Amino acid sequence: MSALPIYLDHHSTTPVDPRVLEAMLPFYRGDFGNAASRSHAYGWRAETAVEMAREEIARALGAAKPAEIVFTSGATEANNLAILGAADALAERGDHLVTSAIEHPSVLDPCRFLESRGKRLTVLPVDADGRVDPAAVAEAITERTVLVSIMLANNEIGVIEPLAEIGRVCAERGVWLHTDATQVLGKLPIDLGELGVALLSASAHKLYGPKGVGCLYVRRRPRVRLTPQLHGGGHERGLRSGTLPVPLVVGFGEAVRIAVAEQQAEAKRVAELRDRLWRRIQAEIPGAHRNGHPTECLAGNLHVSFDGVDADGLLAELTELAVSTGSACSSATPEPSHVLRALGHSESRVRGGLRIGIGRFNTPEEIDRAGDALVRGVGRLREAA
Ligand SMILES: *Cc1c(COP(=O)(O)O)cnc(C)c1O
Repeated sequence: MSALPIYLDHHSTTPVDPRVLEAMLPFYRGDFGNAASRSHAYGWRAETAVEMAREEIARALGAAKPAEIVFTSGATEANNLAILGAADALAERGDHLVTSAIEHPSVLDPCRFLESRGKRLTVLPVDADGRVDPAAVAEAITERTVLVSIMLANNEIGVIEPLAEIGRVCAERGVWLHTDATQVLGKLPIDLGELGVALLSASAHKLYGPKGVGCLYVRRRPRVRLTPQLHGGGHERGLRSGTLPVPLVVGFGEAVRIAVAEQQAEAKRVAELRDRLWRRIQAEIPGAHRNGHPTECLAGNLHVSFDGVDADGLLAELTELAVSTGSACSSATPEPSHVLRALGHSESRVRGGLRIGIGRFNTPEEIDRAGDALVRGVGRLREAA
């Protein structure tokens, strides 16, 4: 087997931290109970483990109560539950939703689905750095607005949105704010009180936890009511029926515990690696541009375009690196990224966009090898042109 490439695609997914896997294993072995079984110790032990994970996640978010955390299969499901569930629960009050042009497809697509079923939708533009203007949110809100959904940080260009200001706008107008915080949980501190959000989505596999589990925070005070999208046994306060995947939930809790404990040190280390790579690129590759916001950006994100270089061609050159051109979720289709498009850049810069996502286990040596590969790859493509 040939050696695997250096993994620099941490916005797409992250490896499971070995400590997380250790915490999960007992729940695949003897502790296999159903957390909803009330009549014996197998069930009680599973339930206790689930509630500990719920408390860990609630604490990390600054939620008032653990019961505000609803486990789902991931952020896609959490986003769908928030958007479809809020639009339905408030159907008597209004029919208008507000979101941004750079949201993940799991936010944009349910919004567009609702539009196809007769709801009204405003998709706000972003500036050239990828930021939503809170004043534009205020302008978009009408008497009939039921939900505003703006992500906390973007999964392609890493831009961090001014969510606290958007939260104040929504609170003044009495409109629920949902945020997709999938790229942020464990990477930056989150304070629900400060953000003023009613609903927040996250996913374990973006923070060194297992794939297949995530959560939706659903605020209790003031009360947020959602129409469930899955009907069944009434698990998760009736909001999400289905037997909980106990090992995954336990892994999610452990991943959050580790990420919070190590957050500051990790963000510093990852940002240093990112800056090291960007300095190298700037020094050795002329015509390199960084996409996104220069300071309001996730620590591990480096999104670059090289003049005259098509990213798909570059990917083919960079066989020793695992990087990507856009969000993995839409890379099955050859369309260039809707996020880069929304920044208003030229066609060639959009087609040249390369996303590098640095994470917990990357080393300075790997970053230097990535720099070598980029210098070589861009050089070869430009010579061939
Ligand atoms: C990865 C990601 C999602 C989807 O999460 P899943 O748990 O894989 O469904 C949603 N939003 C953002 C911002 C993401 O990065």
